[in-house]
Amino acid sequence: MATPLEISQLGNPILRQVAQPVFNIQDELLQIFIDNLLATLIRSNGVGIAAPQVGKSCRVLIVASRPNARYPHAPIMEPTAMINPQLVSHSGEVVKDWEGCLSVPGIRGLIPRYRQIEVEYTTREGQRIRRELSDFVARIFQHECDHLNGLVFLDRLESVRDIVTDQEYLSRLVPTQTVA
Ligand code: ZN
Repeated sequence: MATPLEISQLGNPILRQVAQPVFNIQDELLQIFIDNLLATLIRSNGVGIAAPQVGKSCRVLIVASRPNARYPHAPIMEPTAMINPQLVSHSGEVVKDWEGCLSVPGIRGLIPRYRQIEVEYTTREGQRIRRELSDFVARIFQHECDHLNGLVFLDRLESVRDIVTDQEYLSRLVPTQTVA
């Protein structure tokens, strides 16, 4: 039975560490951890989460896109655990959109991200995969991958003026999903 984990908040040094690569994919403890990470994501209604956000400094993230008010055409994808993920290449095109983060509660930021990316990661079954991601899913991946490198979305702000409170965001701007 998977157990949701406590989420590390901004100020916790683990969010500023570069996470360690994972070597033993078949390790039962790693598999249990991924189940718990997924349970944490589901409980918090996120669309993505990274291991450092639950206090474990290793290179594991989950992307779990689904349609929402701001991205009605966001692909529904099975929550996908990505181990040792890498950004292989990216489009020149950069788009700005709102992001939130479970580790940075109460605010949203307008964040520039590559619109299209090519990524590589190892599945929880141990298979190395290369695939293209675009738009909302690409945004989630970049946000979560930043967590593995000790970055949070605030580090990507072009201006502090691109920060709003959740309350203002929800009352004045088109609702979107917290990226997590
Ligand atoms: Zn986050």
